[in-house]
Amino acid sequence: LLNIKNLHKNFGDRGVLKGIDLVLHKGEVLVILGPSGCGKSTLLRCVNGLEKTNQGDIIFQGKSIYDKDIKMREIRQKIGMVFQSYDLFAHMTVIENILLGPMKSQKREKEEVLALARMLLEKVGLGDRENSYPRELSGGQKQRVAIVRSLCMNPDIILFDEVTAALDPEMVREVLEVILNLAKQGMTMMIVTHEMNFAKSVADRIIFMDEGVIVEESSPTEFFENPKTERAKQFLNKFE
Ligand code: ATP
Ligand code: MG
Repeated sequence: LLNIKNLHKNFGDRGVLKGIDLVLHKGEVLVILGPSGCGKSTLLRCVNGLEKTNQGDIIFQGKSIYDKDIKMREIRQKIGMVFQSYDLFAHMTVIENILLGPMKSQKREKEEVLALARMLLEKVGLGDRENSYPRELSGGQKQRVAIVRSLCMNPDIILFDEVTAALDPEMVREVLEVILNLAKQGMTMMIVTHEMNFAKSVADRIIFMDEGVIVEESSPTEFFENPKTERAKQFLNKFE
């Protein structure tokens, strides 16, 4: 589904991604771990076209996303992204926030999107909150709305960048539950997280990055029980 080839990204003369090779299969859940500043967010941002790369290619559904006749806007609809800050529009209700993308950018029928949105809100435990404003919701509730909003675009892949990092501990669980359920339903995802237990339970494959390169790639059991490199061991020790 997605094939990242020799990806390089510099900010000024600093190399942040230094040759990333990565394949993501349909239905696969890839968790990316690594110390702060190693380039995880930059990698996700390159994948959905928010950052331009300096070298290398990203093949999505058999075509380079940098191909002249590919529109970045379409890539961003097919490869959704949920961030640490949920960036909902404050002056719009939950349901208005969710309907905006599908109706404005995708020109879909209101009835169809509304039915989908309500079904998904119900699933994440927010069936009664469609007319609430973001300020009336907790952080965990807002983050669940942001996930529903992304899902309503019918993406082929969703990227999650530390979606629970800004939440109070008691709200982390409810958001991770939602992502775990998506994984069970076969959603293709790339997840950056600092929640090690969650990583262990959700991942099909773990990628460990350091200083802009992939240092280890293995199954969750292998990675957590028997990391191959010293760098991964040191990283994991911080979470014990
Ligand atoms: P964290 O776990 O703290 O979120 P990360 O692995 O996501 O870290 P990135 O956000 O990808 O790290 O950043 C990688 C490096 O690139 C950092 O050194 C950062 O300072 C730098 N960087 C990121 N975005 C920019 C930018 N827009 N301009 C300049 N430097 C940047
Ligand atoms: Mg980051």
